Amino acid sequence: MEIREWTSIGYLIAAALFIFGLKKLGHPRTAPKGNQLGAMGMLVAVVTTILDMQLAEGDAEWTLILAGLIIGSLIGYWMAVKVEMTGMPELVALFNGFGGAASALVALSETWRYIEGTALPTGLQLTVTMVAAGLSALVGWMTLTGSLLAMLKLKGGVELFGKWIKTPTWGPSWLNGVKILLIIAAFGLIYYGIDNPTDKNVVFGLIAVSSLLGILLVLPIGGADMPVVVSLLNSLSGIAAAFTGFIINNSVLIVAGSLVGASGLILTFIMCKAMNRTLPDVLFKAFGGSGEKESLTRTKVGSDADEVAMMIDGAQKVIIVPGYGMAVSQCQHQVKEFADLIAEKFDTEVYYAIHPVAGRMPGHMNVLLAEANVPYEQLIEMDEINPEFPDCDVALVIGANDTTNPAARTGEGPLAGMPIIDADQARTVVIIKRSLSVGYAGVDNDLFYMDKTMMMFGDGKKMMTELNNAIKEA
Ligand code: NDP
Repeated sequence: MEIREWTSIGYLIAAALFIFGLKKLGHPRTAPKGNQLGAMGMLVAVVTTILDMQLAEGDAEWTLILAGLIIGSLIGYWMAVKVEMTGMPELVALFNGFGGAASALVALSETWRYIEGTALPTGLQLTVTMVAAGLSALVGWMTLTGSLLAMLKLKGGVELFGKWIKTPTWGPSWLNGVKILLIIAAFGLIYYGIDNPTDKNVVFGLIAVSSLLGILLVLPIGGADMPVVVSLLNSLSGIAAAFTGFIINNSVLIVAGSLVGASGLILTFIMCKAMNRTLPDVLFKAFGGSGEKESLTRTKVGSDADEVAMMIDGAQKVIIVPGYGMAVSQCQHQVKEFADLIAEKFDTEVYYAIHPVAGRMPGHMNVLLAEANVPYEQLIEMDEINPEFPDCDVALVIGANDTTNPAARTGEGPLAGMPIIDADQARTVVIIKRSLSVGYAGVDNDLFYMDKTMMMFGDGKKMMTELNNAIKEA
């Protein structure tokens, strides 16, 4: 068998592993296996590519390849170990950006060879390569700058010279005109590049235009709409990789890039649906608020663990509503202990209401609760659990805010139109958070001030531990 055929078989195995891995990622129970299959697919793809370079061309630069693998793996390992669970979304945004940049850099190295006058293809091959390189550069650089800005927005800002500088959210409607002009300019440069493949200015022009476009696309997107933009950037990083696959004629890169592009796009539409937005609205209408936080004028007296435990004693149905604060305080184990305690002691039915954008990344709550071994059957999606609230004795809200805020129903403000968990429909609401302060979208929450609401002010883990102790003693 020819070397090329062995390579094709290696790539086919890698592609099959990616596809089966993705399929398994569709359910929390099979997701860890899916992850392993994907990682195995990537290993097969990398080994096949290196062997192909060595066997077919005999020019694998082993020192460079090994140095890259070792340095990259060490940095990746260090970042993954160091990151707090609450910092994961920023890390994911950063990795999206790196993915886009890697594709754009490969495209750049290929076109740079043409500029230096070597390996210049002719005819149709030149046109195809220049178009693919142009599109890879456009999407790749745009993904890098857009993702870096998204990462800063998720962080809330950056510390510069000892001063905290907030990441701005800004998007007057005329900015859409600028974005359209930049897109036209990028396509103009790609078209010009087909006839002038040795002109460096095309490369620099495309980098500048695409980088600016990435920043302008993310700049107007505020508060609550960030989930959509993060999954869109993820999809773009895949599309950039697929274009790069065409340039270097690598089928597994085309397959893997297309899979990331398509699945990222599907996730983007799921997130749009969850936010009750359309993608053009998110990208061009400066949704999600200005990032300004509402100032608070109201007060509410707090309740303690004993009062809440007494009220929960005898409850037939309790729905737990987790949010970002559960991730911050890492109290998922105490939450699971609470559910087990009341089920055993009071024979209470317990469910978890999962909002699609609760936390700071898609599936954030599912990941945390799975880590605490909460049975999947108890995790109920928003649309399915909402009709249960009028019949629920206690809604226990742990560190969730925007995803329960009735202001979303008013049709005004940053949360307008976003479907919420109907915790306010429960007979009693218990909310655990440290203060009355606003959530990610910066909007005050009427749920805190309702007569039937008991606020337990404090860190999630501390309050859940106190509540569990009080229930044990009840
Ligand atoms: P929110 O971000 O609206 O609110 C979280 C609340 O947790 C805060 O009000 C905070 O109140 C409380 N909190 C913080 N630390 C603790 C702690 N240690 N113990 C107890 N409580 C704590 O959370 P939601 O999950 O309801 O909403 C998610 C928001 O994030 C949405 O607006 C969504 O659009 C956005 N988003 C989601 C992404 C995703 O993919 N899921 C990505 C990017 C943004 P206090 O300070 O008083 O304790």
